[in-house]
Amino acid sequence: MEFAYSNDLDDFIDPDMAYDYFWSDLITSKSAFKCPNENCNADITCANIEKVKQDMKQVPHFRGYHHIEGCQYDSKNKNSSTDSDEIYANAKIGISSCDKFLLNRPEAKDSTLESGTTSGYSRNEDSKKYTGGRYYSIRSLVSKWVQFRKNDLLDKALLKIEGKDITYKELFKGVFHQELDELPDQNRIYWGTAFIDRIESIPGYKIKFCSQFDYYEESINPSFIISDSDIEDYKVKKLLKLRLKTINELKTPIGLVFIYGIPYQKESKGNLYINFSLRNLDYLEIRYTDLFEQLKVNKEDEKD
Ligand SMILES: [Zn+2]
Repeated sequence: MEFAYSNDLDDFIDPDMAYDYFWSDLITSKSAFKCPNENCNADITCANIEKVKQDMKQVPHFRGYHHIEGCQYDSKNKNSSTDSDEIYANAKIGISSCDKFLLNRPEAKDSTLESGTTSGYSRNEDSKKYTGGRYYSIRSLVSKWVQFRKNDLLDKALLKIEGKDITYKELFKGVFHQELDELPDQNRIYWGTAFIDRIESIPGYKIKFCSQFDYYEESINPSFIISDSDIEDYKVKKLLKLRLKTINELKTPIGLVFIYGIPYQKESKGNLYINFSLRNLDYLEIRYTDLFEQLKVNKEDEKD
């Protein structure tokens, strides 16, 4: 089941968005969902919604109980087609899924509803079709990228950003010895394993990628800072704090980091640095390194 009705939000929502809303305290419980079929009163639970960790085995997903006879959302029903089937089928033949990445988190829920729901689903029976999700956090994009990568669809699946289509393959770039000057001058999601260090003098965290970018003769590990005060202002701070703290306390404090932005070089006291500016914490996602192992990244395709 790709989406469910949230009692708290009075809206249809997919499991990634449910996860985001749960960790920003807008969804109160893992079982506060109903079947999208208006005639069916089945209770829906979002499994794994409370888990700090997300990887290939542990993803948030909906499970329904006691659907009415013949409900199209009942997975036991032979005729139930899942929306993900449709999304992957579209991706396979290169059709845009119409998913959009919004550059800012909508202030109020209503502002996302001008043309459909946040999730891209409509309650209207005639248009019970996936019309594209609207995402404002790269957390959801990372989850989709993991799925597309698993299904070998990275170069086909599309996302709309500021009116332009981009494939997931173009959007995600591993940090791995690229020439800084040859990187795109538009925002991309850079990712890789990174050290997460606590710096009390900020106070905050310094995140430094384990791999380098090349700049003329030098190889430099790109890095950026997250301050505690920015974290305090963030809607999903509970989740971010827990992940940062958990990784920081590991013997080797390394996590898998994704950041949407443009790297730039900077000189300070005779040293060269490559930094990212982090405008918005929705542009950052931190996962645990076992996802990296599950992705079975090899050196050849790390740049993609
Ligand atoms: Zn149902």
